[in-house]
Amino acid sequence: MTTSVQVKTHLNYINGEWVSSLRNKVGAAINPANKNEIVGYVQCSTGEDVDRAVAAAKRAQKEWRRLSGAERGDYLYKIANSLERRLEEVAETMTREMGKTFPEAKGETMRGIAILRYYAGEGMRKVGDVIPATDSKALMFTTRVPLGVIGVISPWNFPVAIPIWKMAPALIYGNTVVMKPAQEAAVTAAKIMECMHEAGIPAGVVNMVTGAGSEVGTAIVNHSDVNGITFTGSNATGKQIGQAALARGAKYQLEMGGKNPVIITADADLDLAVEGTISGGLRSTGQKCTATSRVFVQAEIYDAFKEKLLEQVKEITIGNGMEGTSWMGPCASENQMKTVLSYIEKGKAEGARLIYGGERYTENGGENGFFVQPAIFEEVTNGMVIAQEEIFGPVLALIKVESIEEALTQANDVEYGLSASIYTKDIGTMMSFINDIEAGLVRINAETAGVELQAPFGGMKQSSSHSREQGQAAIEFFTAIKTVFVKA
Ligand code: NAP
Repeated sequence: MTTSVQVKTHLNYINGEWVSSLRNKVGAAINPANKNEIVGYVQCSTGEDVDRAVAAAKRAQKEWRRLSGAERGDYLYKIANSLERRLEEVAETMTREMGKTFPEAKGETMRGIAILRYYAGEGMRKVGDVIPATDSKALMFTTRVPLGVIGVISPWNFPVAIPIWKMAPALIYGNTVVMKPAQEAAVTAAKIMECMHEAGIPAGVVNMVTGAGSEVGTAIVNHSDVNGITFTGSNATGKQIGQAALARGAKYQLEMGGKNPVIITADADLDLAVEGTISGGLRSTGQKCTATSRVFVQAEIYDAFKEKLLEQVKEITIGNGMEGTSWMGPCASENQMKTVLSYIEKGKAEGARLIYGGERYTENGGENGFFVQPAIFEEVTNGMVIAQEEIFGPVLALIKVESIEEALTQANDVEYGLSASIYTKDIGTMMSFINDIEAGLVRINAETAGVELQAPFGGMKQSSSHSREQGQAAIEFFTAIKTVFVKA
């Protein structure tokens, strides 16, 4: 039986008001830890809803861009304060909607708060340079202007941090926003909008339209009044968005998938390497773009590493993320679970040896949710599908290598280039890794996941459109440069 008592219906947020979609149809958000629990209802919107949101954003941008950076920053501080007051509620919503454990959801929400405060401060930073003109009576300088209306299209795996790390810089630099969250995270997104509203953000400056990517997302991408699109999600969707945006001359930023390697050298601190591999690969049920997925281990220490890894993986507790005892929650949706299980089957069929887990987890009420045991493979070769494609689940492929060079060559032999890490004590090995690994995020003696918010974030190769998010790097996407020449 489905429990739907007192379940809230969340509305779109357009021009400072909560409104139903013009289609007047809602969809249910299901708890992936218990499919009988409805977390909320969200609007199944249309392209016309997007038109209204874009029109509101375009109108609001005229005034918003005229505020000083400090004035816009004040709003971001207020939004951060509102989110902080509602920290537990937002984190609980996230856990119930997409399955991340409550401590992780709380950590992510706190990161969202910190990002808002960081960009509030960025409103006071210099935005241009004075360049010596050859004419001594002239002044030449650069300044930056907002793009206009920004379309934000986000995935479900970081439902607070990712929309905020896109919206906060968009806003601080004078843009207005139309946001389309992933359908699996739309209730959590509505909570962020409630914080924006509570903070008194002027009408139209931020708008949210929920619904299918194929309809609402496409309408945002193709809208002639949307001047920039910032997208995080899968490569397949990203490529389509990039092509559509390019065709109509809109600026775009794509952050996509990863197939992130870790290299464990013979001189590595084994305890640290095992801890980082487990945390990097299996935290958030492996549903991070930066999740560790391929583990290259030097032959000399392969057996010792594997033994320690298995000992600790066996200790992982699986369950509803709201229960304090759960270390790993469910996959975010039934589809996601099926995808993960099908990759595990492919791995077995291709001849990789499954040495742990890999089944659906059905204990302690798990049969009502979308839980998968962590899967550890060995005897994986680099040509196998599980070594090449992003699985986005709790699956680790162990690959034994004779040398660090062999590990590096194989680590680079994928189309992705997001994050990569190495465990070693040797400075020379660290330096070759930094120089030769093809990844935008390079981590030494640290897990592949986990980049600080003030640092540039993004990938190389097929993982990214090569612009960077986070930190001061965000200004490059969210503004245009004007070069000014003033003759006295
Ligand atoms: P996704 O399926 O590509 O969806 C991402 C967003 O795009 C969702 O809001 C989706 O809407 C929307 N969308 C789908 N089709 C669209 C279209 N034709 N036009 C416009 N928008 C469209 O990705 P996901 O499954 O949510 O997220 C997982 C992926 O994100 C993984 O590949 C992961 O690596 C990547 N990711 C990358 C980073 C990074 O920074 N590099 C960070 C986190 C996640 P729906 O609601 O309909 O799905």
